[in-house]
Amino acid sequence: MNESNDFDVVVVGGGIAGLTAASRAAEQGLRVALLERGTDERYLCNSRYSGGVIHLAFHNVKEPPEALFEVIKDATAGNADPALARALATTSGRAVDWLQQQGAKFIRVGNIVWQQWVLAPPRPITPGLDWRGRGPDLTLRTLAANLEKRGGKMLRNMPATALMQQAGRCTGVEATNAEGVHHFKARAVILADGGFQGNAELVRQHISAAPEKLKQRGAGTGVGDGLRMAQALGAHVTEAKYFYGHMLSRDAFTNDKVWPYPQLDELGTVGIVVNTAGERFVDEGLGGVYVANVIAKLENPLAAWAIFDEAIWEGPGRTARIPANPNYAKAGGTILKANSFQELAVQTGIPAERLELTIGAYNAALSAARLDTLNPPRTSTKLQPLPLSKPPYYAVPLCAGITYTFGGIATDEHGRVRRPGGAPIDGLYAIGVTTGGLEGGTGCGYVGGLIRGVVFGLRAAEQIAQERR
Ligand SMILES: Cc1cc2nc3c(=O)[nH]c(=O)nc-3n(C[C@H](O)[C@H](O)[C@H](O)COP(=O)(O)OP(=O)(O)OC[C@H]3O[C@@H](n4cnc5c(N)ncnc54)[C@H](O)[C@@H]3O)c2cc1C
Repeated sequence: MNESNDFDVVVVGGGIAGLTAASRAAEQGLRVALLERGTDERYLCNSRYSGGVIHLAFHNVKEPPEALFEVIKDATAGNADPALARALATTSGRAVDWLQQQGAKFIRVGNIVWQQWVLAPPRPITPGLDWRGRGPDLTLRTLAANLEKRGGKMLRNMPATALMQQAGRCTGVEATNAEGVHHFKARAVILADGGFQGNAELVRQHISAAPEKLKQRGAGTGVGDGLRMAQALGAHVTEAKYFYGHMLSRDAFTNDKVWPYPQLDELGTVGIVVNTAGERFVDEGLGGVYVANVIAKLENPLAAWAIFDEAIWEGPGRTARIPANPNYAKAGGTILKANSFQELAVQTGIPAERLELTIGAYNAALSAARLDTLNPPRTSTKLQPLPLSKPPYYAVPLCAGITYTFGGIATDEHGRVRRPGGAPIDGLYAIGVTTGGLEGGTGCGYVGGLIRGVVFGLRAAEQIAQERR
């Protein structure tokens, strides 16, 4: 079947970014269509799976813009494009106001700054996936309903496959499904397809030589279509080596109760992470997102263990929002336990002598406050390491859980897709985690996927409406 449709804006992808942009564009009187690959009414996407915590680098999104700008710079070690960082910092407060006006409900789940804006009802404190009827699910449905009320079209089972172009300008989208090829003409196209973590070839090219050994810690629906389509029109792609993710149990490949929560970051970043030879290979003090990235880049990403003791298991192991202790053990996750490191080594198959040397060196450096002498050194400014001294001792088999890719399509602060020299591609926008330039860098800086989606969804829609006027 061939179809011809003419719109002001066509949005590709119905996660939080795409639905925000489509809804806001329709609110401004534009004729909008949103194309979504998913077929179910509650199609899967990372936005629907999410914890619904709207934060900016774990700060309150309503803090003054100047302060938030510094927070982003700090979280990304200066890697964030200043124009994107400023846009995020200045629009994040308005983003939650707008969501509230649309009917999204928020709840404060605690007194910590990042806990102030959580989509309600919040996710329960339980392991495994649990998204039905939770805040993110309800918010997506509210935004989709608003879009349709405002005359916008929401088309599921409509995977975008190519961009239409004329004289270097993007003029629409081609989508292909079982019924055939459909053409949607548009004055502006917004790509919001959610990254490339679900595309093994692209992950191999940019992130890990063994993509099959990374656990999709999300819906896996971001398969790089936006990136491919934008590149075909000459878009610049930012550095794409890093991803947002966490340390998960290796059991996540076979036990759905141990992902996406509990993540095991607290265990490995307060204790130590070793390979199957019993050697440390990563600066655990740089945090769980960083460690997950280093594990992903190992020749064998399934060869890492978190080693910790009773004090860590009973301390930091219990303090996360969805803590490993007791959730991980209750969910049937593998946790090896022994009264000596020698015994623990036998259980894990790690050479005992080497493991004891590694732990001895770590404990000695910690008590002498000389963690910098370790190889690799251990940072202690972000996370306070603890000694491995209180039996029983524990080992958990790790893998890298990949949630979404940090790098992607280069844009300006209004979401306009940029060519390698910086000039925009007329008529083409990209928002949400299909874009790059904000998060990532060697420290794997994370600022928050939801707030990015809403902020740049609003900004792109408003820019298009302004140009239209
Ligand atoms: C378990 C989990 C917990 C999280 N918790 C939080 C949290 O608490 N706070 C936070 O800030 N972030 C969180 N995140 C991250 C956050 O959910 C994402 O970064 C964010 O939702 C991404 O939004 P998006 O709209 O860019 O992409 P997505 O939500 O992934 O949406 C992209 C959509 O595009 C569609 N699509 C893909 N290709 C095509 C195509 N060719 N044609 C048409 N449609 C297409 C997909 O089907 C999908 O529906 C979490 C993620 C996960 C998985």
